[in-house]
Amino acid sequence: MAKKITPKKRSPLPEQGEQAMIEAILEGSPEGIGVAVIRLDCGCKKMAAVDKAGDPASKVVMYRDKAESICDQCQADNGDFMRVISQFISWKTPEPDVHTKKMIISKVLGSES
Ligand SMILES: [Zn+2]
Repeated sequence: MAKKITPKKRSPLPEQGEQAMIEAILEGSPEGIGVAVIRLDCGCKKMAAVDKAGDPASKVVMYRDKAESICDQCQADNGDFMRVISQFISWKTPEPDVHTKKMIISKVLGSES
């Protein structure tokens, strides 16, 4: 019987293309301790660095893998939150402590309730 692979829903890992973008954003944002990654249902992504207080440490970057620009829908609605399929923060190492992470996640991504 094939072994089932259970994806970890709590902390999705960045995809390869996302990882490169995350590193580029952090490089340009010395205050950033992590990058919020927001995946939209159309395949485009929104990212922004956050600092240790949970405030934006970079401007919001929107991009689409292997494309020169974001899709028409995103250009029209700027990546409306109604179309968000997943969102998480990719932390820079060393990662902040659990409490700091929690505070930043709820500030940046909103509470999970
Ligand atoms: Zn799009």
